[in-house]
Amino acid sequence: MTTTSERDTGSEKSNGSRSERTTCVVVGGGPAGMVLGLLLARAGVHVTVLEKHADFLRDFRGDTVHPTTLDLLDDLGLFERFDALPHSKLSRARVQDSDGREVTLVDLTRLPLRHPYIAMVPQWDFLDLLAEAGRAEPTFDLRMRHEVTGVVRDGDRVVGVDVESPDGPIRLLADLVVACDGRWSLVRRETGLPKREFPVGFDVWWFRIPTRRDLAESLLPRFNDGEVAIAIPREGYLQVAYLGRKGSDAALRARGIEDFRARIARLLPQAADDVAGIASMDDVKVLDVRVDRLSRWHAPGVLCIGDAAHAMSPVGGVGINLAVQDAVATARLLAGPLQRAGSDGPVREADLRRVRRRRLLPTVVVQGVQRVMHAALIDRVLDGDVTGPPAAAVAAWRRVPALSAIPALLIGVGPRPERIPAWARRASSARGRRLVRR
Ligand SMILES: Cc1cc2nc3c(=O)[nH]c(=O)nc-3n(C[C@H](O)[C@H](O)[C@H](O)COP(=O)(O)OP(=O)(O)OC[C@H]3O[C@@H](n4cnc5c(N)ncnc54)[C@H](O)[C@@H]3O)c2cc1C
Repeated sequence: MTTTSERDTGSEKSNGSRSERTTCVVVGGGPAGMVLGLLLARAGVHVTVLEKHADFLRDFRGDTVHPTTLDLLDDLGLFERFDALPHSKLSRARVQDSDGREVTLVDLTRLPLRHPYIAMVPQWDFLDLLAEAGRAEPTFDLRMRHEVTGVVRDGDRVVGVDVESPDGPIRLLADLVVACDGRWSLVRRETGLPKREFPVGFDVWWFRIPTRRDLAESLLPRFNDGEVAIAIPREGYLQVAYLGRKGSDAALRARGIEDFRARIARLLPQAADDVAGIASMDDVKVLDVRVDRLSRWHAPGVLCIGDAAHAMSPVGGVGINLAVQDAVATARLLAGPLQRAGSDGPVREADLRRVRRRRLLPTVVVQGVQRVMHAALIDRVLDGDVTGPPAAAVAAWRRVPALSAIPALLIGVGPRPERIPAWARRASSARGRRLVRR
């Protein structure tokens, strides 16, 4: 952290860095940061998004785009371009009952949704699409290979960030800094916002199994003797999540790839002939599963959203959706104060507080359901106490298939879905053409 007694402006130099000014700095170009950057730019706010990587092409870190996010893309006029990206669609999640019959636990097609499916799109394609839409706005400035190294303060107020860029250090001053830098957020660490952490007993190992097999378009959770795997059919491969006890990564790797392939073949017999496609343990990435949330999401001059405010468990695959929804709410609540920031002084804490007030309920509800799922199912399966979801629940879902709409609502829509503000809406090119013809 650095302090500045005077608010630098324009191109003044401080601490050897070039100094610049913008209205809003967004730290991190993940789903939260890119959506927030695009929306604020559509409100005419000067926004600079800083992303430390050179591109969005990174390891798998969740590729799920939920029905509510698809609706938002529609309203942003981006759905057609999104739909043209290579992707697969998931409408249902099934398990096997004790007699080996498939029972649908989650069915999105039962809901009256514009897009009743989860689109499985590589996250980099989704982020590239948002970046391209942002570049069409004159006040949008996305800078790749710009790593934030600290926050700049004026007294107790955050007034900007220090950045390491390919052209050397920059001090970027702003009326507001929004931390969208994920679960290991440097900004939230430097700001010292109080955090509540919930214990999690498992980690997740992600990997691909290349396959030409035509596997059903559905999530396939499999449970076997203290182990769990979830396989998501994709174009030409299965994306697999293997769940194991927290802290067992070293032991799993020490047992080697042959042992790992054998475990996966037992768990996913339909992919047993393809497990040789997992080339080595280097292709198996561990996710240190965390569930936490900040007790306060803001301090003077700074706000945290997305994983920076609340790291999510992968259960339900809702982290991206929640981060996007946070960004929409933030843009709606803060675009006005940011438009007035120059003349009215800095964004008031009361405005920043409204973001947490709006987004706390969905965060608490989703994390609550995830923690119940951890305790009631995942921990018990990993301990070997049970071999899958409670038989009575599976039987009830088989007898009353309409029950599959309940988890579908929670996962696909979630509590308190956000709407794109009118000023950010655009007609997609086809819809626009239809409107013109009418
Ligand atoms: C292996 C894995 C699998 C997952 N699977 C799913 C899933 O299936 N579905 C789902 O919904 N969620 C999933 N998640 C969670 C999901 O990725 C997150 O909840 C979601 O991406 C949060 O979005 P975000 O924008 O808040 O943060 P992130 O996506 O973490 O984005 C943060 C961005 O900030 C950048 N950054 C960090 N520090 C700095 C810095 N100092 N300066 C500049 N830039 C910085 C990072 O490079 C990154 O681009 C998964 C996560 C992991 C790791």
